[in-house]
Amino acid sequence: MKLILLGAPGAGKGTVAKMLTAVDGSVQISTGDILRAAVKDGTEMGKKAKEYMDAGKLVPDEVVIGIIKDRLAQPDCQKGFILDGFPRTVPQAEALDKVLAGLKTGIDHVVSIDVDEEALVTRLTGRRTCKNAACGQMYHVEFTPPKKAGICDKCGSELYQRDDDNETTVRSRLATYNQATAPLIGYYSAKGLVRPIKGVGGIDDIFNQIVGIVSAGTGCSCGCKH
Ligand code: ADP
Ligand code: ZN
Repeated sequence: MKLILLGAPGAGKGTVAKMLTAVDGSVQISTGDILRAAVKDGTEMGKKAKEYMDAGKLVPDEVVIGIIKDRLAQPDCQKGFILDGFPRTVPQAEALDKVLAGLKTGIDHVVSIDVDEEALVTRLTGRRTCKNAACGQMYHVEFTPPKKAGICDKCGSELYQRDDDNETTVRSRLATYNQATAPLIGYYSAKGLVRPIKGVGGIDDIFNQIVGIVSAGTGCSCGCKH
């Protein structure tokens, strides 16, 4: 599958992207994960990116476009890819179109996950993630707590709270989403690629809706061959 997951921070993009990789071996590409790894490694890019991330602002387009260009050129993307957190601006979407055209491929669907904003604030501020990058399992202190507080059920590693999951930064990330990223729904609607889904149920529900879209070959209700 070749998907873009569009949705506000906390809509469930990262979690469902991981689940979708098991369906057909498509890879998850998360610019947020790649940037966090660069911050952790203390690279030049990471040092610059951290300021933007901590403020809930977008890292400059040229940085993330460079990341995506390199990543999509790697051979494991040939099976398919799930873009999680990219593109986030119209210039990023335009750059992606060019990169994909150069690779003689394109996007099958843009899944737009819709969730109420206040629900997102609660989700994000209670979110905890496994420190082991190979695992990356996510929890919520209230809704999906681990069996033992602060410890991953899956691999036993410690859990942490992302630096940008505090309420102030979360509100800023949501405002950034509404201003810079939400216009992409119009951009991809014009190409007939948008498949809106409701993100209110559990993550399994989101997963099943996406699998339905991917296996039907189209999420469009007009009977066309989008
Ligand atoms: P979320 O979707 O929950 O905000 P991400 O992990 O996707 O989480 O992104 C975290 C931060 O990384 C963003 O707030 C932003 O600063 C930066 N970032 C990630 N992807 C992009 C992108 N495509 N363009 C610009 N900044 C990005
Ligand atoms: Zn773990």
